This record gives sequence, C-alpha cells and structure tokens, in this order.
Amino acid sequence: MEEKLQILLKEKFNKNLDNCSKEEIFEALLLLTKEANGKLPRNEGEKKLYYISAEFLIGKLLSNNLINLGLYEEAEQILRKHGHELCEIEELECEPSLGNGGLGRLAACFLDSIATLGLPGDGIGLNYHFGLFQQKFEKLKQKELKNPWITKESWLTKQPECFKVDFKDFSLNAVLYDIDVPGYQSGCSRLHLFDAETVDETIVGEDSIDFDKEEIKKNITLFLYPDDSDEAGRKLRIYQQYFMVSGGAQFILKECEDKGYDLHKLWEHVVIQINDTHPSMVIPEIIRLLLKKGFSMDEAVETVTKTCAYTNHTILAEALEKWPIEYLEEVVPQLIPIIKELDKRVRRKYKDKSVYIIDDEDRVHMAHMDIHYGFSVNGVAALHTDILKNQELKNFYDIYPEKFNNKTNGITFRRWLLHCNRQLSAYIEELIGSGFKQDASQLEKLMDFADNQAVFHKLAEIKREKKLEFKKFLQETQDVEINENSIMDVQVKRLHEYKRQQMNALYAIYKYLDIKAGNKPKTPITMIFGAKAAPAYVIAKDIIHLILCLQELIENDEEVRPYFRVLMIENYNVSKAAKIIPAADISEQISLASKEASGTGNMKFMLNGALTLGTEDGANVEIRDLVGDENIYIFGKKPQQVIDLYEEKGYCSKDIYEEDELIHKLVDFIVGKEMLAIGDEKNLKRLHKELVGKDWFMTLLDTKEYIETKEKVYQDYENQEEWNKKVLVNTAKAGFFSSDRTIEQYNKDIWKLK
Ligand SMILES: *Cc1c(COP(=O)(O)O)cnc(C)c1O
Repeated sequence: MEEKLQILLKEKFNKNLDNCSKEEIFEALLLLTKEANGKLPRNEGEKKLYYISAEFLIGKLLSNNLINLGLYEEAEQILRKHGHELCEIEELECEPSLGNGGLGRLAACFLDSIATLGLPGDGIGLNYHFGLFQQKFEKLKQKELKNPWITKESWLTKQPECFKVDFKDFSLNAVLYDIDVPGYQSGCSRLHLFDAETVDETIVGEDSIDFDKEEIKKNITLFLYPDDSDEAGRKLRIYQQYFMVSGGAQFILKECEDKGYDLHKLWEHVVIQINDTHPSMVIPEIIRLLLKKGFSMDEAVETVTKTCAYTNHTILAEALEKWPIEYLEEVVPQLIPIIKELDKRVRRKYKDKSVYIIDDEDRVHMAHMDIHYGFSVNGVAALHTDILKNQELKNFYDIYPEKFNNKTNGITFRRWLLHCNRQLSAYIEELIGSGFKQDASQLEKLMDFADNQAVFHKLAEIKREKKLEFKKFLQETQDVEINENSIMDVQVKRLHEYKRQQMNALYAIYKYLDIKAGNKPKTPITMIFGAKAAPAYVIAKDIIHLILCLQELIENDEEVRPYFRVLMIENYNVSKAAKIIPAADISEQISLASKEASGTGNMKFMLNGALTLGTEDGANVEIRDLVGDENIYIFGKKPQQVIDLYEEKGYCSKDIYEEDELIHKLVDFIVGKEMLAIGDEKNLKRLHKELVGKDWFMTLLDTKEYIETKEKVYQDYENQEEWNKKVLVNTAKAGFFSSDRTIEQYNKDIWKLK
C-alpha cells in the first residue's frame, strides 16, 4: 500500500509522503480506495434488490471504506511513519449531505449491510449538487448556506449510460454517477445517483440557498428538498421525484433485459424497495414502460404489484405525500391515465373512500398507491407497525393483512462503533474477541462482565477519553471549551416540534432557575443540542433561537456556568454525530409517544454506552425490552393515551399552563426580561404563544414528569458503579440494532434474494 501511495503522489503531484500536503494525501487515498473498491467482486445473483430513495445520507466515506476494505490500520501506520495522522486527513473530506436525517441515514446503513451480507442489491437516488444546506448561527439564529461537496476528484464515477426522461414541456437526460459501496470484508454494492447535465450551480446565490425555482433544467438536482414543511417548490419536488424514478425504472428494466430475463417474470429477478413515498411514482412509471413494451394493463399491474414493496416512515399527516392531480398533470401528464386507472380499479373493488388513491379534492395519495400496488408494507419499529395496523392504515390492514410486516430499523456497527469509537471497539475485542464485528449479537457476551469493577472502570476511562476528543474538536471548530468532567446530556437530531427539543429547553430553564436559587448539582452538567430546522419551518427556527438565547444567557452567568451549560453544535451532520455520540452519557429521545416511528439516533447512543432518557416511542420501546426497566429512563404519557387525546381533542396546553405554577413560570421565562434582553422579541413571543395556545405536540403534557425523571438520572450518575453497570448492559444488548439484522429480516421476509 505504501508503494501504491507513493506512486499516486508522484504521478499526481510529483511529490512523496514526506513532502506532500494533507490535501494531497487525501486525494491519493481516495484514488487508492476507489481502485480497491473497483476490484472487489460485485454481489450478484438471480434476483436483485433496488433500494430506491430520495435520500442517502452517506456521510464521509474515506475511513469507512478503508475499514470495510481491511486497510485502515495499514493506512494509519504508513501515514504515521511519515508524520501524518489519518484522523486529520479524514477531516478534509467534504461531507455529502444527501439526506435530511434518519430516513436518509437508514438508507446509507442499509447499503453497508447489503454489501456486507453479500446480497445482490444497489441503491438508486439523486446526485444533489449541494445536498442539505449547511447551518450557521448568526445573531443567535439559523442561517442556511449552500453545501457543495463534489470536488474534482470524488467518490462519483460517471457511467456511460444515460436515460431520456420526458416532462410535459421538455425532456432531460438522466446521467448516472455511481459510488461503490464496499462491504465489510465482503463484496461490493453500488449507489446509482442520477443527475442532469443542464444543471447550473451558478444560479444559486453566494452565501445562500436561494435560486429560481422555475428553471427546472438548471435546478433539478441542485438541492435536497429540505423537509416537507417547505411549501415553496413543491412542483420542483415532483420534477425531482419523477426524474429519479423514470431514470431508475429504465435502468432496472435495461439491466434485466441485458441479462436476458423475461420482463413478464420481472418479480423473479427484481425487487424494488420504495423508501417512503418519495419514489412512489416508480409504480405508474414501470406500468407505463411495460405498456410500451406491449404488456396489457392487467399484466403490467400484476407485474408491478409483485415487484414493489413499500416502507412507511411516519404517521405525521403533513409528511404523508398527497399531490394535487393538477400538479402531476403539469409535470408528468403521461402518468395521469395510469394513476386514474389504478384508482378506478380500487374503486371498483372497495366502497370505503379512505382507501382511494385519488380523493374528493383531487389529490393523489402516494402511500395508498404503494399499498394497493405493492406486495409488502412495512413499518420501522414494532410500535410503529402496530400503530399502522390498528390506527393509521387500519382500513388497508383489513383488506391486506398479509402485506403488513415490521422491520425494526438498525445502524451499521462499522460506522457507529468500529469507526467512531475505536477505543471502545478495541476494548470489547479484548474482552470477548473479534466475532462481534461480523455478528453483532455476540456483544451479549459482555454480560459476563456485568459485575466486574475493572471493566466498569475501563468503560468510564474510555468515555472520558471520548469526551476529551470531543472537547478538542469543539475548541478547534466552535471556539468553546467544555468541561470533560461534566455529565454530557445530548439531544442531537432534526429539529421538529414532535421531537420536543422545546421540552428539553424548558428543563434548561428549570435548572438555570434552580441553580440561581442555590441548588448546585454535584457533578456539572453540559447539555448539548444539535439540530437543523427546515428553512421554512418557522416554529422550529424559533426553538433554535430559544436554545441559542439560553446558551448566551448561561455562558454570561458566572454563577451558573460552572455547574450547568447549554451548548448548541453548529451544522449537525453525520461526522459531527460520530464525534458527539461516543462522548455522551445521556441520550435524549423525548418525542411525543406514537410520533417517532423508530429513531436510529437512540441506537447509536445505546451502542456507545449512553443511557436513554426517553418516552415510550419508536424503538425506545424495544431498547427498554432488551435492557430492562432498570437500565433505561422512560417517562411520559403512553402512545395509546396520546392517540386517545388526539381523538377526543382532549389536550389543552392552556389548562396546564394556567393550573401548574412551575410550568407557568418556565414557559413565561421565554418572554421574561432576561431573555428579551438577549433575543428577538418577535420570535420568542411567537414561540410562547404557540406553546400556550396550541402546542400541537403536547410539550406541556410531559414536562413535569420529564423534569422529575431527569433529576433522577443526574442523581443516579453520582453512583458511578451502578451507572457503569447500566452502560455495560446497554452496549451488550445493542446487537439487535445492527442493520445487518434488519437487512437479514428484509431479505428473509420480503426480498428473498438469490
Ligand atoms: C442518526 C442520524 C439522524 C437520526 O437521528 P434520530 O435521533 O433518530 O432522529 C439524523 N441525522 C444524522 C446526521 C444522523 O446521523
């Protein structure tokens, strides 16, 4: 490898390992890794999976590729010999932010596991030039900047294939860029990203994310649609989706025909997993293409229905896509007769209007199309799937009970343990051998040490080391100095009212006032937030403003600061996650019960030895079942209670605010004189009004119990022996959440790849 690197550096820059720059080493390593990926055998078989998704939040790739290729240690040693640190080189990579959050990160973890398990399967998505925006804080508010990541040398490899995609008034060529996905000591899969050559990056302002939304030819793959709460550019979203699925469908059928397969038996050779409803138009698009190849409508419908499977990721009404039919008519008129025919077939069979594809207001329900014309519908955690069956999609479950199944999400342990926490990974290997790297369930062997003081000690030592690393990182990137001896209490995830960062902020106010009143915590506490808000999501941005104001208030308060701090990390993304999570003691998973479909952040924290403080929601429920009540902190109203409250319209935040003195005080602090002296009155008052007058996600419902439970967590931390025992149990029981397990279940129950 050393020789190879030297040759590359010589060829490219006329330099060697001793006189080249870090940037040049990065480029040489990228080329070397790309070449090694290219030499891996492709995972192939008689039947292939296409995982189609508008998002693949892959994050930086260099280190993970090196780990999977088995080259990491060697690269590290060679560089060290020449005075370089691999972890510093790694920082130079631009992060591809081709996803919003959990859903996109899941797709990336799945590709890693598909490749690792040797399954024939590829990803299909879009090559966004700027991905998700980059977040900066200015005047205590979020500012969005574009986030370019495609450099001259990159992981992308342009392919010769190209597919024509027709829109109403024009056509575009969908060009393919591929990224190789090496499995862990295994073969290779591929991520296929479509792009258009007409895209013009110069139409985006310098320090902004503004561009002309009408200029589709120039903008189609510029940005990732930043969450569903952005009303503007909805049509652009349809253009993007159709561009992806039409390119994808043509690509899939071509691969099939090239292999000589009979398209009449498509489902024997192809399975398409539709990741949320963003790619749902792939169903009518494949039907359209098959009709053009001479299929009858009946044949085409049967073929597609046996080929496509759908994953639901949310029950939030605003996130379930319903496109006005006139929008679709304006963008892709060729799909309208097919969608109408699919709807007609549903209406002929069922009288229940709630299962129609096109509703009374002429909106197309994408999920309904997926359920009727796919063979599998899965939720992403046991609780979520139950809610789908019994509430949200009950009318569909009654028709198709056999289609519904659960696949609890997972995370790839290569990135979320082996890479992000090398110390912990090495220590686990010392204790139980290296088998857990291939088979995560072997982490259970750690239970043999559940009474071993020396092991607890070492775990605490590793945690402290990770805190120190994180401290150094924060010093260098955000110019703040944290206390490595403090409790790290972390909430990092997209900002959304249902995730209830605002409740955590209310706790911060509580603690601030409590310390002001003279009650100092034994161990200092650092509360860490990290979150991006969709640019058009007004209340989410107000919550960011609130947190930043609290940070400012406390940073300037000599009385409180030594004991309690609030810190918001700028631009939370995959590489920041990899630095924060191993340093965390407490994992905040406090969504309103029933609203977080699964969560995957919760799994990353558990694996890295942080204890969950959470509601009975998503995969938190499964974490609790695995670790037992004594190793997790669960609080708040239960999912069914919340569902009933919505049903009865039985929640009134104003009542709680009026009746509970403490809550009244905390909420009013948002618009009190301390905050108004720091923050923007308009934002703070709007947030206050929202909490008192509406509070759709029931923050105040659980605030009291949250405060009590969190106090208990901090108190428990003081008994380090007991605490570290809980930490050990959490890591030991995390094996279930390996995405290798998830993918094995998808394959066994849905894909049946050969
Ligand atoms: C894991 C991950 C998420 C998902 O976090 P949740 O807490 O499950 O919402 C979001 N963003 C990034 C960058 C992640 O790594």
